[in-house]
Amino acid sequence: MSHLAPLSPDLQQRIEALARQAAPAPMLSQKQIAQLKEEIRALLQEKNAVLVAHYYVDDQLQALAEETGGIVADSLEMANFGAKSDADMLVVCGVRFMGETAKLLSPEKKVLMPTLEATCSLDLSCPPDDFARFIAQHPDHTVVVYANTSAAVKALAHWTVTSGNALQIVRHLSERGERIIWAPDKHLGRWIERETGAAMLLWQGHCVVHDEFMAYELEKLKQRYPQAKVLVHPESPENVVAMADVVGSTRVLIQAVQELPDTQFIVATDFGIFYKMQQLAPQKQLIVAPTGSRERQCSSCAHCPWMAMNSLVNLKRVLETEDQEIHIDPALRERAVQPIERMLAFSRRVGLVK
Ligand code: SF4
Repeated sequence: MSHLAPLSPDLQQRIEALARQAAPAPMLSQKQIAQLKEEIRALLQEKNAVLVAHYYVDDQLQALAEETGGIVADSLEMANFGAKSDADMLVVCGVRFMGETAKLLSPEKKVLMPTLEATCSLDLSCPPDDFARFIAQHPDHTVVVYANTSAAVKALAHWTVTSGNALQIVRHLSERGERIIWAPDKHLGRWIERETGAAMLLWQGHCVVHDEFMAYELEKLKQRYPQAKVLVHPESPENVVAMADVVGSTRVLIQAVQELPDTQFIVATDFGIFYKMQQLAPQKQLIVAPTGSRERQCSSCAHCPWMAMNSLVNLKRVLETEDQEIHIDPALRERAVQPIERMLAFSRRVGLVK
């Protein structure tokens, strides 16, 4: 096992400052919500546009995506859905790398986002120039990057993976005897390394949301809910993952709530996912895993500050103005799309996506 040096304090501080500056969606009355939804429906129809939303965005956006023929999904399904859609315009409600991935796979479509400022701490933690220098020092390694990276970082990689297919892909590479450079999430990388036994060099990024889940507080919460099953996303710290009954991607965690006979679940991932869990299993009780204590306050508090920037207000605005559009240089696209297409082809082959 080989881990790189931690991120520079400067970069770490810049990421934390950006997370603090992310402006949350405005509070709206029921009347405003109904009116905005009506106007957005009309605009989607007029522009032959479709909503592609992530599980972590606001409930209202998830509901609207489903009601209007769009999708609510993890980043793997989002990418696949956008590429197959007949719409002229994709409106990606999520964070920037998701919009970029949609554009990489659908260059002929216009790809908009409610705000291009919605970024991701993992994406930010992996500057392309630093990463390129690191790869150059290890030319005999296969470069595998998480979907939560910029197009410029994907262009440096052999494979892109999501949490939904990372284990299968890395296991496949490891069985072929390949050694792996992994970026950017250190916790997810460590989990994959342990589960697959692959030889991996791990970049030291982390997600500002999942990194805050705390094992000691989780232990205390488990004592209050002794019957509850613990569901953990593998971007969480190792000692939290170790306490899980189920570890997996958003899709795996949703499936667990739906299919396990248990009635109480402590969930260590962004609580935006509760919308889909409750929709599919309304009788189950969902409890947010603890992110802080008296000694240490949480800053993201189990909800991504950048996912929270997506709102009905900026969604309507972008459908009117079309000014938050993703553009990718064609030469960059040519390189960045290859690891994604490799991932999708593999995922289709093993039945992870249709
Ligand atoms: S929840 Fe974490 S990994 Fe997901 S977009 Fe937000 S910062 Fe990135």
